[in-house]
Amino acid sequence: MIQEARMCDLCRELDYKIEACRRLENSTNDELTREAVADLIREYEEDKAKLHPNQSGETSRS
Ligand SMILES: [Zn+2]
Repeated sequence: MIQEARMCDLCRELDYKIEACRRLENSTNDELTREAVADLIREYEEDKAKLHPNQSGETSRS
């Protein structure tokens, strides 16, 4: 499944971004920054869930 592998490259990229966001979130006390970063993490996680609609138990439609 070549397409599956490509999708997981995207997942890795998103994971990497989420990880970077989490580090940033933990390294700042600025509330606005933390909120913005938390929003970003949510977006990345939604993107990731959309890549694998079969693997996540719930179907989230926006
Ligand atoms: Zn994937």
